[in-house]
Amino acid sequence: MLILSSNKSGRPFSEIWKTDIKRGESKGNGHYSGTCQYCSTHWKRAKSVSLKIHLTKCNLAPNEVRDIHSILGGHLLLVLLFIKFS
Ligand SMILES: [Zn+2]
Repeated sequence: MLILSSNKSGRPFSEIWKTDIKRGESKGNGHYSGTCQYCSTHWKRAKSVSLKIHLTKCNLAPNEVRDIHSILGGHLLLVLLFIKFS
């Protein structure tokens, strides 16, 4: 069982910027460009949700990385569906 860290400070997505995604230049409004550390996929405007989803299926990411993100990704998919159909 994976125990997710409980010392979140209300910014659940910030972790990926430290480990999995290289943050690029600021695009304003709190948006940044980003690059996947593993496969070098680049986003001009990296959204946390897109990055998370990418990390669940990135072919070059270590299995443990994909596992961690796929647990959270389940929730994100629900959120995305909600946004899409609301
Ligand atoms: Zn990748």
